[in-house]
Amino acid sequence: MEFMPEMQMHQPISVEDAVAQYSAAPNGRYLAGGSDLLVNIRRGIEQPDSLVYVNNIPEMRSITEDGERITIGGAVTLRELSQHLSVAEHFTAVTQAADEVAGPSHREYGTVGGNLCLDTRCIFYNQSEWWRAANNYCLKYRGDICHVAPGGKKCFAAFSGDVAPTLLLFDATVEIAGPDGRRQMPLADLYRNDGMDHLTLGSGELLVAVHIPKPTAAITSAPMTSAYAKSRIRGSIDFPLAGVAVRMAVTGGKITDLRVGLTGVSPLPFLAKGMDKFVGRVADESCLEEIRDKVRAGAKAMKTTTTPPHYRRRVAGALAQKLAASIL
Ligand SMILES: Cc1cc2nc3c(=O)[nH]c(=O)nc-3n(C[C@H](O)[C@H](O)[C@H](O)COP(=O)(O)OP(=O)(O)OC[C@H]3O[C@@H](n4cnc5c(N)ncnc54)[C@H](O)[C@@H]3O)c2cc1C
Ligand code: SF4
Repeated sequence: MEFMPEMQMHQPISVEDAVAQYSAAPNGRYLAGGSDLLVNIRRGIEQPDSLVYVNNIPEMRSITEDGERITIGGAVTLRELSQHLSVAEHFTAVTQAADEVAGPSHREYGTVGGNLCLDTRCIFYNQSEWWRAANNYCLKYRGDICHVAPGGKKCFAAFSGDVAPTLLLFDATVEIAGPDGRRQMPLADLYRNDGMDHLTLGSGELLVAVHIPKPTAAITSAPMTSAYAKSRIRGSIDFPLAGVAVRMAVTGGKITDLRVGLTGVSPLPFLAKGMDKFVGRVADESCLEEIRDKVRAGAKAMKTTTTPPHYRRRVAGALAQKLAASIL
């Protein structure tokens, strides 16, 4: 299928109406910028009967802040996020990641909510219907075998959103609205390690906003800096083969705070384990090399892209080393 099927379109102007319209639709999907969902519908991967368009909901369209936190509406575009001055001041990596998503036209209509709820990706899945049919489909859709890890029943399709690992650095929480009301949870809890079912959202649940607490002196006594970088095949417009976010603080040459977020190398974005052990270490060349090796070991990329997994693991470590060096 490479054409758009007929679908009913709803255009609510409040979160509550959006949830109600989704609940009333037999097989609906939330639609934001459509830069992921519409591609998948055209390829026959997604087959909704109706779409609930969320970009006309004022509550989801703004970025607000107070002394304690910045709140980013789920329908804020990536261009708007990348140009927000307070976000850039406090959360540089978030700004950089938003500015690295796809190309400029995608960032004009692609949203934060869509980026965080993006489907996972794999070379055996993000293909046309005729390609997948000719190759016996796969576990994630219609098939009974995983072509990446045959014999198992797990899907390793990679989460490849750029923004999520940067938000994880700062303990972001997400505000969710659904048929049972509203709730908040850590962004990390939005994801599970399953390429076929990587979001923990219940049916009809909508990501209304992201809250990021502003860093305080209680977290670190040194100025905290962050950065994001990714490796991709087409430099001007492409998903990350590996995306790395680093948050680091250094006082008197010693590391006082270190976190590394990863995307593109697993079914979920995550913070690399074991970074605490570098706190208190002198941030010299050998320390940065150890950080590189630790990140590489934690990046469990599988053969879900045309680029070999071992390259993506190496590049994840190298990017972490490079970013940490740039922060010093
Ligand atoms: C050529 C190309 C290159 C790309 N490169 C990149 C890249 O480099 N990095 C990257 O991160 N992405 C990339 N993308 C994917 C996409 O453009 C972005 O991730 C974008 O941010 C998706 O947002 P959207 O608003 O368009 O999402 P949509 O397509 O509207 O939605 C995506 C998914 O999220 C769900 N959704 C949307 N909003 C919400 C919400 N508020 N609550 C709950 N569910 C919601 C939808 O139902 C759908 O399942 C690329 C896409 C293309 C076509
Ligand atoms: S990892 Fe396996 S099951 Fe998942 S999309 Fe790829 S081939 Fe399909």
